[in-house]
Amino acid sequence: MFAKQVRKLIVAIDGPAGAGKSTVAKRLAKELGYTYMDTGAMYRAFAWRVMEQGMDLSDERELRRVLQQTNIELVEHFGRPGVLLNGVDVTDRIRTPELSQLASRVSTSKIVRERMVELQRAIGSQGGVVAEGRDIGTVVFPDAEVKIYLDASSQERARRRFEEFRGQAGQGTMEETVSEMEERDRRDKERDIAPLRKAEDALVIDSTDSAVDGVVERIMQEIKKKMLANQ
Ligand code: C5P
Repeated sequence: MFAKQVRKLIVAIDGPAGAGKSTVAKRLAKELGYTYMDTGAMYRAFAWRVMEQGMDLSDERELRRVLQQTNIELVEHFGRPGVLLNGVDVTDRIRTPELSQLASRVSTSKIVRERMVELQRAIGSQGGVVAEGRDIGTVVFPDAEVKIYLDASSQERARRRFEEFRGQAGQGTMEETVSEMEERDRRDKERDIAPLRKAEDALVIDSTDSAVDGVVERIMQEIKKKMLANQ
């Protein structure tokens, strides 16, 4: 009599900067009617707070104190995802090359990561999320039903980043974009806690020569397979 409820899945998308995670994750979330979770925006928002307070990152007590007084919320305004830091909309101001680097430095801290992962798991506790980041399939949701590792050549990733920030104050040359991205990738991959790496059971997709539609379609096939298997 009653239509069987299809359990909502967790879709985890990890990969380096500029691989296309945000574009693809947003599209998937929209198609599925799921929540889009931009975990990078959470680290960026906390980095903003660190910058505002002029904090010394090596001062763990201070970091702990500020973390306790920091509330980060992922929201949606008129269909556009955003992030609130203690109630203030910081969505646009966290998208700068400077904040990218600071977020990468801030995210090497164990206590920062513990807090963010706690918030992320709370958001995903009922399923029905498409989460993107660096440690989603490995640490945040190791039991996610669908895990994707999205990659692209470093030249292509740098090109995309350069286009994204074009015309913004503080944007350097293409060469600077390449070297900043390489530095960030290295730090994200080599850090001790939750480094960026492919989960063993993740499907690797290289988006260097693929249009967004093709990548979304490929992941939707995986999601549908899992949905059928879960019925
Ligand atoms: O994805 P996005 O470029 O916005 O992430 C900014 C930085 O936040 C990354 O370079 C990475 O250091 C950190 N991050 C992380 N773990 C995540 C998401 C982002 O360490 N799950």
